[in-house]
Amino acid sequence: MSRKPIIAGNWKMNKTLSEAVAFAEAVKNEIPSKELVDTVIGSPALFLAHLAEAAKGTELQLSAQNSYFENAGAYTGENSPAAIADLGVEYIIIGHSERREYFGETDEDINKKAKAIIANGLTPIVCCGESLETYEAGETATWVESQITGALKDLTADQVSNLVIAYEPIWAIGTGKSATAETADETCGVVRATVEKLYGKNVADAVRIQYGGSVKPENVAEYMSKENVDGALVGGASLEPASFLALLNFVK
Ligand code: PGA
Repeated sequence: MSRKPIIAGNWKMNKTLSEAVAFAEAVKNEIPSKELVDTVIGSPALFLAHLAEAAKGTELQLSAQNSYFENAGAYTGENSPAAIADLGVEYIIIGHSERREYFGETDEDINKKAKAIIANGLTPIVCCGESLETYEAGETATWVESQITGALKDLTADQVSNLVIAYEPIWAIGTGKSATAETADETCGVVRATVEKLYGKNVADAVRIQYGGSVKPENVAEYMSKENVDGALVGGASLEPASFLALLNFVK
């Protein structure tokens, strides 16, 4: 089963508008065809309208880093998935461990967001991953299975086939301490097995699973060579144009 790779930068809360646009201008004509790889920048919502303008007609795709699960209403400070879709953005990252840890997001919130994002025609990038404590206790598989089961609750097989899941061990995020390619493959395999248990083999074969956590130009190809790893969600190494573009060097 061949799944199209997806490389997504996660800028987190970095850059100003002029820096974001300068980045898009620097990379937008250097990106391989969408036929070969999906190349995505996950930007703060503030810059998305301008980035969409800059990326128009190119292979560069955009993601928000979060959204609310209602399309409109009295939710001060939140961003509507419908408004994000209207900008021409294609993905929304949800359930990143920083959202879970600092903003109290639960699997139930993430599930509501996934449904709202899909209803607006966008693709959620659903994050999961365990803490160092859970990893060292050997409880990664149970943890990730439970996060995925909660996040996907009541989604249809068709919807799950089309989404992206990112496995990001918290102990590897921003620490420079990446999981080995074997560990990444193994836990992405747990995610795939969970999807198979819930939705069957065809859906498990179709869903794209990224690894994230200290992915860099120097190690991306090794992750991408693994059976269960279909892409990468990249923080630090996605912030500079040269490094972001070098993440795509595995594409032949
Ligand atoms: P990192 O971040 O690549 O800087 O480790 C990954 C992420 O949090 O998505």
